[in-house]
Amino acid sequence: MRFFRLLARVSVTFVTLLTMAMPATVAPAQEAPPASQAQVQAGNAESGESYTLPPEKLAKAIALSRFRNIMDIAGSLWGIAVAWLLLATGAAAGLGRWAERVFHSRWLQGLLFFAALIVILTFAGLPLDALSHHMSRSYGISVQGWGSWLDDQGKTLLLTIILGSLVMLLFQWIVRVSPRRYWLWCWVITLPLIVASTLAEPLLEPLFNRYEPLSKHHEALVAKLEEVVARTGTNIPPSRMFLMKASEKSNGLNAYVTGVGATKRYVMWDTATDRLPDDEIMFIFGHESGHYVLNHIPKMLAGFALGLFFIYWACAKYAGWLARRRGAQWGLPEEHALASRAGFVVLLFAISVAGLIIEPAANTFSRHFEHEADVYGQEAIHGLVPDPQQTAVKGFNALGEAWLEDPNPNPLIEFWEYSHPSVKNRANFAAHYDPWANGGHGRFFEH
Ligand SMILES: [Zn+2]
Repeated sequence: MRFFRLLARVSVTFVTLLTMAMPATVAPAQEAPPASQAQVQAGNAESGESYTLPPEKLAKAIALSRFRNIMDIAGSLWGIAVAWLLLATGAAAGLGRWAERVFHSRWLQGLLFFAALIVILTFAGLPLDALSHHMSRSYGISVQGWGSWLDDQGKTLLLTIILGSLVMLLFQWIVRVSPRRYWLWCWVITLPLIVASTLAEPLLEPLFNRYEPLSKHHEALVAKLEEVVARTGTNIPPSRMFLMKASEKSNGLNAYVTGVGATKRYVMWDTATDRLPDDEIMFIFGHESGHYVLNHIPKMLAGFALGLFFIYWACAKYAGWLARRRGAQWGLPEEHALASRAGFVVLLFAISVAGLIIEPAANTFSRHFEHEADVYGQEAIHGLVPDPQQTAVKGFNALGEAWLEDPNPNPLIEFWEYSHPSVKNRANFAAHYDPWANGGHGRFFEH
């Protein structure tokens, strides 16, 4: 689910708190098990693996996975390096002085400073983003032209400037008025901000993609999904089911749940509805329903809240230490260095470092919930499709093939970077999961 990605990003940096509108087209979100063709069997007899690729796709998948893994790590390290460079070159302090010359009002100075900072950070990351897009296009996953891609980048930047500047201004004000306990107050307001951004996400998504009611195009499918709804006891009426016109930009397959309360909805990419049999879409839908039924959002929120408490505290300590040690070099004021605008960049740097360190922990939680949702999804379609195991395995194969997922990822990389279990592990589990054999029942359903 996109929500987990958002939470993960929130914990990485203050800046990204504001980037919830970022279109999730770059990385394989891996939500939707998609469908595939002939070479899929429920378990490959020779290898014992349930996720396999034909040879030419296998070579591509391995090469592309290697690239993605490197880019993941490079992206994080580059973000940290840019923040460090802004400080070490004195650019952050210079930017602060510039903002003071342009405006009299302290609030306007702050807004200008943070807007400029966001522009700098965005442009610094642009070459890596462009390279990822280029690779995605050359491997036939993205079909989005460069004009449209730039358009999306521009919209994202604009949204980030508007929302990000305001939030950073708020955080910085807190650092100024409470130089000792600011990390605690920042933590307190981060929680409602996460909820608010989740609420707002579905409202911002139409800026990037077209959405239509699922029932408008797939009436028969919606009727089948309602069968799953009835079995799960959830309350997802057809009016909450949407079709996203993803095929304009991507060949990937995906589905996700998003929003909370009044904005809660289920979204299916049209690539999936066009290429997958209804059975497999029911499985995906069951998986997504699992996230809601099993309260994964509140649980993740609670976990992150607890984690962020210590992260903010540790970052405040680390940033304070950095400011004492290097403040003079970086052009920070002697008194209350972190309360200055350039001092805020020290906090951003500390948060970026923390983000890199906690990523595997966040991903481990996420993988646990994704696995639970897989189990739930498979149980949810029991009795509704002829063979839940086969359906799930086929779905995972289609997903893996569409995104060119490596059938044999390095376990350490999976541990560190994967928000979902690898397709290999998901498919292998599904192939062997049959609690109904010998009259038993599943973990989440009585029959
Ligand atoms: Zn999921």
